Amino acid sequence: MRWSERQIAMLREIGVRLWVPPEPDTAPAPSVAVADEPAAPPARVAVAASASSPASPVSALDWPALREAVVACTACKLCESRRQTVFGVGNTRAHWMIVGEAPGEQEDRLGEPFVGKSGQLLDNMLRAVALTRGEADPAHQVYIANTLKCRPPGNRNPLPEELAKCEGFLIRQVQLVQPKIILAMGAFAVQSLLRSTEPVGKLRGRVHRYQGVPLIVTYHPAYLLRNLVDKAKAWDDLCLAVETLQDAEAGR
Ligand code: URA
Repeated sequence: MRWSERQIAMLREIGVRLWVPPEPDTAPAPSVAVADEPAAPPARVAVAASASSPASPVSALDWPALREAVVACTACKLCESRRQTVFGVGNTRAHWMIVGEAPGEQEDRLGEPFVGKSGQLLDNMLRAVALTRGEADPAHQVYIANTLKCRPPGNRNPLPEELAKCEGFLIRQVQLVQPKIILAMGAFAVQSLLRSTEPVGKLRGRVHRYQGVPLIVTYHPAYLLRNLVDKAKAWDDLCLAVETLQDAEAGR
């Protein structure tokens, strides 16, 4: 795989270490190779998602009412162990929507998605393509939400019934944000949005659709922290998302 100087700089920004073969002085341009791919990620628990109906009352809620409904939710047992619900963050008119898995310890404490180590990596990845959860125009902003709004105890995997109970909130968030592109990070985001139990590695690299919106599948940042070599693939996924959005805006 060959990379431009700009891509190399961006990959460095998100912590991807590249092997640069020594070039003779006369070489016209540096050629950069990424280490071989490791074995496929371990299969994760299959979830037979049963949709919460888009016709449920949640589908009519505006932002304040939706937020209140999440805060008050007692639909599953996670409400007993949570410190607080974690609703979502970012511009509610952002062009980009990022969907993760579930709050962890820090998110449960602070009430914002992706504020731990995975969040730092996510922010760096976003910065590399000029996106932010902070202040910016909607084209450069993301809205971040999780499939679950409450932390599973001990950060265990979400259970199928928990995903099903929480799904209506995510559906409504997507309807309200009306993103131009969705990035589904990790197996549980994929299971919720695409109803697929295929591994992320099999679904990434092409454009899917959710509610008519182009959706790109990529690895979860927590997975990337454990499997550094796959950061290069996550970078490819981000580039695919950028290109897909550009194509859509150009009517291609
Ligand atoms: N992992 C997620 O998927 N979401 C968070 O908010 C934090 C970690």
